[in-house]
Amino acid sequence: MKHLRKIAVLLLVGCLPVHTFGAGISTVQVTENEPQEENEAEPQDAETTEEDEKNPVTKEFIVCIDPGHQEKGDSKQEPVAPGSSQKKARVSSGTAGVATKKAEYVVNLEASLILKNLLEAEGFQVVMTRETHDVNISNAERAQISNKANADMTIRIHCDSIDNSGKTGATILVPNDQSQYTKNIFPKSQQYAEYLKEELTKQNVKVNGIIKRDDMTGFNWSTVPVVILEMGFMSNWNEDKMLSSVEYQTKLMQAVVEAMKTYRDV
Ligand SMILES: [Zn+2]
Repeated sequence: MKHLRKIAVLLLVGCLPVHTFGAGISTVQVTENEPQEENEAEPQDAETTEEDEKNPVTKEFIVCIDPGHQEKGDSKQEPVAPGSSQKKARVSSGTAGVATKKAEYVVNLEASLILKNLLEAEGFQVVMTRETHDVNISNAERAQISNKANADMTIRIHCDSIDNSGKTGATILVPNDQSQYTKNIFPKSQQYAEYLKEELTKQNVKVNGIIKRDDMTGFNWSTVPVVILEMGFMSNWNEDKMLSSVEYQTKLMQAVVEAMKTYRDV
C-alpha cells in the first residue's frame, strides 16, 4: 500500500506540470501528501529498507519455533490456561502419515530445522522449544519458553489429519480475539497469519483459512503473539508424501520466512 501511494504521489507530481494545473497547485498536492508518508514511520526512501532486509544484523527480532509433539505423548493433565480448572493432556502424540507411516513429530521437526536455518540466514534470532524427539515438554511449558525469551513471534509447526482422505491444504490457527487469555495477543498473531496466508498462496499452496481457537493450551499460556501452521494433511496420500519431501518443506518454510520479514519490517 505504501509503495502504491508513493507511486501515486510520484505520478501526480509527474503529471501535474503537463496538465492544466499550475505549478503552485502541484506544490500544495505534494505537501499534503508528505505528512501521511511520515506518519507511517517508514524511512523516506524504500531502498534503505530493502538494503536492511538483506543485512543480517539490522535489529534483533526473536522467533520461537515450536515443532509440535514429541516421541511420546504425555497424557498427564495440565490446566488449559493460567488459573483454569479445565485440564488437557500435557502433550499429545500427534498423527502419522497414511502413505509414509511417518510420525507427525518427525515431520514437524524436519520442517522446523529448515525454518531455523532460513530464519537465521535472514538475521532472525531463533529459539527452539525442542531439537530432538526424546523430550517431555508440555504445551504450557512450550508457551512459557516463548514468553521467557520474549519472542516477537512464535510459530508452532504441525501437520493435520482428518477422517476424510480427500482433504488437503495448509491451515493457520490463531488465538481467539474474544478469549480473556489471548485477546491481547490476537491482533499481532492475526496480522502475521494474514501475511503467511498471502505468502503460501503466492507459492501455490492451498490455504484452508485462518481459524481462531480458544481451546489450545499453547495459545492460552502465551503472552507473545503466536500462530500454528498446520502444513497439510497426513491423512491424504499425496500430501502426506509431499510433507516429507525436503523441497516441499523448504517451500512452506520459505513462505513462513517471507511473511516474517514482512511482519518484522512493516
Ligand atoms: Zn499436531
